[in-house]
Amino acid sequence: MNANFAALSYLIASVFFILSLQGLSSAKTAQKGANYGILGMILAVGTTLMNPIVGSYGWIITGIIVGGVIGTIIAKKIQMTALPQLVAAFHSLVGLSAVSVAAAALNEPQAFGIGAPGFIHGSSLVEMGLGVVIGAITFTGSVVAFAKLQGLVSGNPLVFKGQHFLNALMGILLVIGIAHFAMTESHTTFWAMTFLAFLLGLTLIVPIGGADMPVVISMLNSYSGWAAAGIGFTLNNSLLIITGALVGSSGAILSYIMCKGMNRSIFNIILGGFGTEAQTGGPGGATTDKPVKSGSSEDAAFIMKNAKSLIIVPGYGMAVAQAQHALREMSDILKAEGVDVRYAIHPVAGRMPGHMNVLLAEANVPYEDVLELEEINRDFGTTDVAFVIGANDVTNPAAKTDPSSPIFGMPILDVENARTVLFVKRSMSPGYAGVDNTLFYNDNTMMLFGDAKKMCEEIIKSLEE
Ligand code: NDP
Repeated sequence: MNANFAALSYLIASVFFILSLQGLSSAKTAQKGANYGILGMILAVGTTLMNPIVGSYGWIITGIIVGGVIGTIIAKKIQMTALPQLVAAFHSLVGLSAVSVAAAALNEPQAFGIGAPGFIHGSSLVEMGLGVVIGAITFTGSVVAFAKLQGLVSGNPLVFKGQHFLNALMGILLVIGIAHFAMTESHTTFWAMTFLAFLLGLTLIVPIGGADMPVVISMLNSYSGWAAAGIGFTLNNSLLIITGALVGSSGAILSYIMCKGMNRSIFNIILGGFGTEAQTGGPGGATTDKPVKSGSSEDAAFIMKNAKSLIIVPGYGMAVAQAQHALREMSDILKAEGVDVRYAIHPVAGRMPGHMNVLLAEANVPYEDVLELEEINRDFGTTDVAFVIGANDVTNPAAKTDPSSPIFGMPILDVENARTVLFVKRSMSPGYAGVDNTLFYNDNTMMLFGDAKKMCEEIIKSLEE
């Protein structure tokens, strides 16, 4: 294929990717954004396959078929609630491929057009060094994130003495390693760096736990983008550099937004182990014997029917129960009764950025009824009922009052300011961060124990009666 034609085609694919990101920035245009992404990817892969450098198609076609089949099966089977760990798993593959490409380029540089063994160009060695280090950190970091999110290992922060010193030391050694590798092309240095970076990926992510995992996911997203950009330099592929940089920078922006949402410092995240000062809580955290008021679906229907204003606070439990459709039906009935119904979305509600927005959009909840934390938080004080459905951590006042809590400092939805707070959940268990929620024991709280979807359906029945 003509090089100019390939460059033009890559340029068009890049534009599609940028349009895709723009589309994905709002739920309204997300479908369009996804379509642009698919078009860009078809163009990118097609152009690459037509490159005369491709010697044989056997392995490529096998890879596409095997990968395509596995990907399709996973996409069809995956539960919405398991998406965060799937994303983490996919990030690990990007990291591993960066390591593999760098290793292949070191052994067969002539195949990559970057020199001959022992005589690889200096700039290529720097690119390979950076690519392998970022890729290896992304790989092990993502594997740990996957294991934590999947519940294979405890979500609690794992901290040990001298952790920050060890991380800093490994970081410095890696910088020295890249410099040494660029000057000597030493295979020993390359593999030592790879090993050290694998280790650093582990030690960066194990101290992060509980409520801080959302930031880890977006941060690894960013790392995987930079790793891909690194491979792009090694392969001399401009599109991969652009795509990697787009993923890297959008992941970094998302991390920044999540940090702001969680009131965390971006520097602590990059260095690993942020929020580790907080050690209390942990899954299954403290419980108390204080009495709680619990009610039935009829009680809830009565209270909400007689309210003027209602704010619904969805959380992870709504996603687990797939209660969004029943919830919308319930709010439609209440609206028809003259109740002012709105939804309050916390930036880390659920298990992935935008989780609640996606589910509510799927249930056709009008966009204008869905408000972000900073838009609606003040309104709880003048609201009759807060209907908290499957949310917990995002309402927990320990974030404001208990400096030893893992969620301390995170802004929360001030549901307790509403005249009545209804909590739909199955038990008194804590949320993801493992912290007991004192709101359950408040005088103005009524617990509605049960599965979120079933509870909504029962409330609908009571409302209709
Ligand atoms: P939480 O995990 O704090 O609470 C969810 C609640 O839902 C639980 O207390 C659970 O209580 C209840 N629940 C579970 N299943 C059901 C069901 N079928 N029906 C009714 N209730 C149910 O969720 P939040 O959304 O409030 O907070 C999100 C947490 O996840 C934060 O700590 C956040 O940091 C973290 N996180 C967020 C990510 C993101 O990107 N958004 C990524 C990773 C972590 P019970 O068992 O009693 O029913």
